[in-house]
This record gives sequence, structure tokens and C-alpha cells, in this order.
Amino acid sequence: MAESEYDVAILGGGTGGYTAAIRAAQLEQRVVLVEQAKLGGTCLHLGCIPTKALLESSNLFHKVHARGSEYGVNGEVKFDAATVASRRDAIVNQLWKGVQGLMKKNRIDVIEGHGTMSGRDSIQVGEQTVKAKAVIVATGSRPRGLPGVEFDGRRVINSDHAVLASEIPQSVAIIGAGAIGVEFATYYRQLGAEVTLVEALPRLVPLEDEEVSKVVLQAFRKSGIDCRVNARVREVRPAENGVTLQLEDGEVGAEQLLIAIGRVANSEDCGLQEAGVECDQRGFVKTDEWMRTNVAGIWAIGDVVGGFLLAHAAAHEGVTAVEDIAGRRIHAMEQDLITRCTYSTPEIASVGLTEAEAREQGHEVKSGKFPFLANGRALIHGETEGFAKLIADGKTGQLLGAHVVGVQATELIAEPALARLFQGDAWEIGRNIHPHPSLTEVLGEAALAVDGAALNI
Ligand code: NAD
Repeated sequence: MAESEYDVAILGGGTGGYTAAIRAAQLEQRVVLVEQAKLGGTCLHLGCIPTKALLESSNLFHKVHARGSEYGVNGEVKFDAATVASRRDAIVNQLWKGVQGLMKKNRIDVIEGHGTMSGRDSIQVGEQTVKAKAVIVATGSRPRGLPGVEFDGRRVINSDHAVLASEIPQSVAIIGAGAIGVEFATYYRQLGAEVTLVEALPRLVPLEDEEVSKVVLQAFRKSGIDCRVNARVREVRPAENGVTLQLEDGEVGAEQLLIAIGRVANSEDCGLQEAGVECDQRGFVKTDEWMRTNVAGIWAIGDVVGGFLLAHAAAHEGVTAVEDIAGRRIHAMEQDLITRCTYSTPEIASVGLTEAEAREQGHEVKSGKFPFLANGRALIHGETEGFAKLIADGKTGQLLGAHVVGVQATELIAEPALARLFQGDAWEIGRNIHPHPSLTEVLGEAALAVDGAALNI
């Protein structure tokens, strides 16, 4: 049995794991990464990257097909699913090669295979035992199913199936209006499918600020998506040519059913229980703000620890863990600095507290809002739905949260996120001289609106 000695062994090579590996190499740690499938994980192969590539195509198609004449662009356009899929795959492959190159450049040993912890300082991969002073668990998550309903990949699918599908269903029902549900609702609807979106809670994207949910509901309904909120699914009946959903107040029939009700941690099957690592009731590994588990020598990062299941959160958690391991503690992980981005139309992005959360936490709240409708660049884009909204502490003016719904929200959120990192006040965003005409002006104006001083409304 071969044995190796490393400073850091990382179990799982998704965004969290490979980023941790790079940082560990930079800090002169001898590092090994164990991956059972492809480097890059869910984000690169089944999540962020391929879905956004698909959405880029559906957005472009929809814009020219449905709205081209508004822009003076006429003519017939066709959606070529095969080319869309090969473009998606080319983007993924280019990035995948990039990650492999980064592993080589940083002299990171990569072991292919399913790893299992076989002690607090060792991982078993087939016949090979990998020994390390520190282990980082970064095994990710997988789609959650509905009890009693099987994913057959044809009539009942999850996001893994949807992202790799080569055909667009004519009608689709989606259970769950979180990030995955609203992104795929956008995608299918832009390509002309009949879409029914079923959400158990009273609003779409229920984790977002309430006013954001309202804009998304309005926009979705306008686009023809049948949105059912407060909807309980009693039964799912797959048949030969489709699926019937029995809701409390009626039936929904569709060619395909996408279940998007969250994800479960990949915390079984990798020796964590045997190593004594503590998980919460839902199976997510418990950690402190340095990503330490309850077992000395074992850290955990990314989807497997729960919280926001986002690639950029995983990457930062990886850096935090490695810096802790290397004795270079710089920043503990601050969950309330994580930006949340959803690439539906309209896009949704947020950081920090919603207005309701700020009040619940005892803040006296003042907020400012500015609509895209009053922004020149948004008019030029022809995308005037939505707004930017900033939440500040009424006494100190400190920026507590930012919420953008509308065109390029996922890019715009970086500015208030940086302001929060700097513990800035809302008015400072108002003082920032934003370029004109640009979408960023909605943030400046929303910041001024916090003190009733917006200029262009
Ligand atoms: P989610 O937790 O974001 O949303 C699931 C939704 O399903 C919730 O609104 C919930 O109320 C609803 N739901 C649960 N059970 C239901 C039921 N039986 N009937 C009807 N509705 C039900 O989960 P998701 O959308 O599956 O995404 C999984 C994870 O992946 C999330 O953490 C998400 O943040 C992440 N993700 C992020 C992005 C992005 O940032 N763009 C994209 C995709 C996924």
C-alpha cells in the first residue's frame, strides 16, 4: 500500500476544493486534491457555467425573436439547440482545461477516484492511502428529490438533467421558485415553452427582499409564466407522455417536470461519520468561521457545509480554511458579505440584510430605492423593469443590505458588496461619481434616496 505525506489533502475538486488547493500551494503547503469525477465540480460542469451559457443563448434569441423590431432589427431567427449545446460545452471545456492547467502550474497532485476519510489525517482512494496534516472536506451537494418521486431523467428531471438536455420541452412544470427554478423558468419560457412554476411559500425567490419577489412575479406573469405561489404538491403522476401534478387547488399537466427544491449535502459515503465529524440535522457539516469542523485537523468548505450554496462562497471558504491551516489567519468567513446572484430575467442580486431582516434584528431602518425606468442606460438596453434598493441603519447610516432586481443586477451588486466590506455608509455610494450613462447610476441614486436626495426622480 503506497503512502504519501502532505500538508493539506482536499477531498473534492469543485470550485471550493480547487481554489483551496491553489491558495495552499501559494502558501508553500504540499497539497493533494482527490476528485472522483471532473475538476471544476458542479459549478463548472452542471451548474453556474453551463446554465449561464444556455441563458445567454435564450436571452439573445428571445430579444431578437420577440423584441427585435423594437430595436430596428428585423428578420426571422431560429434557435439551434445543437449549436447552443456545443457552445455551452466549448465554454465548459475551455474552463476545465484552465483548471487542469492551474493544478499543474501550482504543482498540485491530483488523484482521480472516490476518496473516503480513513482517519482524521488520511484519505483512502482505492488502494492508495493519502496522509496529510490537515484535511479539507469539499464534497459538495446534489439535487434534492421529492419523497416518493423518482428522477427518470425524461419526464421527471432535476437541474443536472436540464442543463445537459438536448431538447426543449413544449411544456414544463417546475417545483420550487428558488434560484434554479426561476433561472430555468426564464430559459424555457424564452424559448417558447409553456411554463408553470409551483412554489410552496407565498412568494417567488422567498429568500430575497419582499419587494424583489413582487417585481419577479410581475415580470414572470407578464412573460406568460403561470406562477402558483402558496401551492402544495399533493401528488406527482408520471405517465407515458408527461406528468400530472396534483395541487391542493387543481391539476397541472406538462411534458416534463423539473424538481428544484434545494440540494442535499454529499456528507455520507466519505467516512465523515466514522471520523467523528458533526453534521446538522439536514446532513450539512458544522463548522466555525474558520471552516474548522469539530474534529481537530479536519476543515470543511463549500456546499457540504450549507449556508448559501454558491461557488464564490465556496472559493472564499477554501481560502479561509487554508490560511487558517497555514497559520496565516487574515479574515474569518463572513457569511453576510456573500453576494447572492440569480440569472433569471429579470436578474436578481443581493448582499447583506433584507429590509425585514434588518427590522427583525432591531435596526431602525431607512431605505432608498431607484427604478431602472428612470435610468438612461436601462432605457437604451430596453430593460426597464426593476430597481436598486439600499437598506441603511437609521441612526448610523451604515449600509446593511443592497438588493438589485433588473438588468445586469448580478454585475451591479459588486459595488454595494465592496461598500459593505469597507463598512461603508449608504451616502458614500451616493458620493461615488458613477459613469454616465451607465446602469451603475441606479446605485448612486438609490443611495441618495436613502436620505431623500435622489436627483433624477
Ligand atoms: P432553493 O433552496 O434556492 O429554492 C428551493 C425552493 O423550492 C424554495 O423557494 C422552497 O420554498 C421551494 N420548495 C421546497 N419544497 C417545495 C415543494 N414541495 N413544493 C413547492 N415548492 C417547494 O433551491 P434551488 O433553487 O434548488 O437551488 C439549490 C441551491 O443552488 C441553492 O442554494 C441556490 O442558491 C444554488 N443555486 C444558485 C444559483 C445562482 O446563484 N444563480 C443558481 C442555481 C442554484
